[in-house]
Amino acid sequence: MTATVIDGRMVARGVREETARRAAALTTAPVLATVLVGDDPASGVYVANKRRSAAAAGIGDVHRHLPGTASEAEVAAVLDELAADDRVTGILLQLPLPGHLDPARLVERIPPEKDVDGLTTRSQGLLARGEPGLRPCTPAGVIALLDAAGIGLAGRRAVVVGRSTLVGRPMAQLLLGRDATVTIAHSRTRDLPALTRSADVLVAAAGVPGIITGAHVAPGATVVDVGIHRTSDGLVGDVDRAGVAPVAGAITPVPGGVGPMTIAMLLANTVAAAQTREAAR
Ligand code: NAP
Repeated sequence: MTATVIDGRMVARGVREETARRAAALTTAPVLATVLVGDDPASGVYVANKRRSAAAAGIGDVHRHLPGTASEAEVAAVLDELAADDRVTGILLQLPLPGHLDPARLVERIPPEKDVDGLTTRSQGLLARGEPGLRPCTPAGVIALLDAAGIGLAGRRAVVVGRSTLVGRPMAQLLLGRDATVTIAHSRTRDLPALTRSADVLVAAAGVPGIITGAHVAPGATVVDVGIHRTSDGLVGDVDRAGVAPVAGAITPVPGGVGPMTIAMLLANTVAAAQTREAAR
């Protein structure tokens, strides 16, 4: 068997087109505010991509770039100004922040209705309770990919490798919300291969290149690779694709799998936030 490759670029394009249609149907255009602190080149590229994709979907742009020396009070003041700005429907604080700033404390200043990254305590609490709210983009993108590929989740066994606030935990909650039977693995998990071989759907988000090998995968399982690592051979994921492809039923590639979905879901969240606001008026 050779696994079917799930094309994230194609699915992401569909999400972006649908988002642009929904944005155009709104009375007032949605606006995404991006906040970048410092001059980390990778963060700069990520923010530029998000702004470009937002503009292409008909989403307005507000951008604040603060120096890497900005104090927590200064960053907080910018977030507060954007929170109070009625034009702004979504706020994204690009992470990681310079080491002297507390990301959790700053993220909390984003009102839940503008929390398009889904990272505030309130958004994550709503997710944990199974109540409506804005969902973290990468795990939401994984669900959209699985749906587009026709992978059923209800009653299936899902294993998520990783328990971060950004990916692993919300991923597990979203799978649970879709009635999968979910297990979370982490760095203290014993006998990871035995556990992951029990999965119908395996999501790798450990941040360890190639940690998931053919020995970790049950024949015919769906394997989603969230990992992104820059190497001299280009981008690779957490999944050893050459070893896993002959065993799995379906697999997401790196690059071109989960990565393109993350920005697409950010745009979808920004438009969803604007729709919710418009419906409340
Ligand atoms: P993270 O905060 O470093 O979390 C990694 C998680 O994996 C932790 O929970 C850790 O366990 C667990 N882990 C580490 N080594 C392990 C091992 N040997 N066995 C089992 N579990 C292990 O990383 P993250 O922010 O969740 O990101 C994970 C990966 O996804 C990274 O490669 C990142 O670049 C990528 N990513 C991609 C996108 C995208 O758009 N595609 C978006 C976000 C992140 P402990 O909790 O026990 O330490």
